[in-house]
Amino acid sequence: MEGKIDEPLSTVTSMKIGVLALQGDFDAHRRRLEELGAKVVLVKKPEQLDEIDGLVIPGGESSTFLKLLGEEGLAKLKDFVRVKPTFGTCAGCILLATEVENPKQSGLGSLDITVRRNAYGRQIDSSIREGRFLNEPAEMVFIRAPKIERVGDGVEVIATEGEDEVPVLVRKGKTLAATFHPELSDDRRVHQYFLDMVRNARPS
Ligand code: GLN
Repeated sequence: MEGKIDEPLSTVTSMKIGVLALQGDFDAHRRRLEELGAKVVLVKKPEQLDEIDGLVIPGGESSTFLKLLGEEGLAKLKDFVRVKPTFGTCAGCILLATEVENPKQSGLGSLDITVRRNAYGRQIDSSIREGRFLNEPAEMVFIRAPKIERVGDGVEVIATEGEDEVPVLVRKGKTLAATFHPELSDDRRVHQYFLDMVRNARPS
């Protein structure tokens, strides 16, 4: 999904994308989004959510994110996700899910999926596998990855991995979530897909 060729560059460069920068691998997302022409804001305070068109919640440790956000941060983030495009990767995906297992954990409850944390076992801390993104082959980096065990009604599966076609990138409306780390591969398509979502969500 490439950006439209006739799209004036100004619409891309004027897009302000926040990357939640409390913890985890936010810098790789920042770099990737900047490479694609977006203006990036590293979000460390709740009020910064007011100035952005879309948000990336990076990988890290979801339980640590929850501690750092606190109740107020979580509530503000929940309101943001309801109205603006949000992309959660790995721990970010766990935060967005309505149901979390291993152990049970509550979060934003924004995306109707069930995820199991650290689902590939301790011995497989990380791996690089080939999956399918929009039916095309794509490299996928998994790090202490969760597994999406259930997708709710209306949740689209955008990418899968393995013979069982396990969902690894899912979307409902403005909310996108991946169990892998697209920011760690050279392939820019997943971030481009998110930027297209942000562009399409903005009033013209
Ligand atoms: N295992 C982490 C968690 O449960 C997620 C790992 C990651 O974001 N790379 O939050």
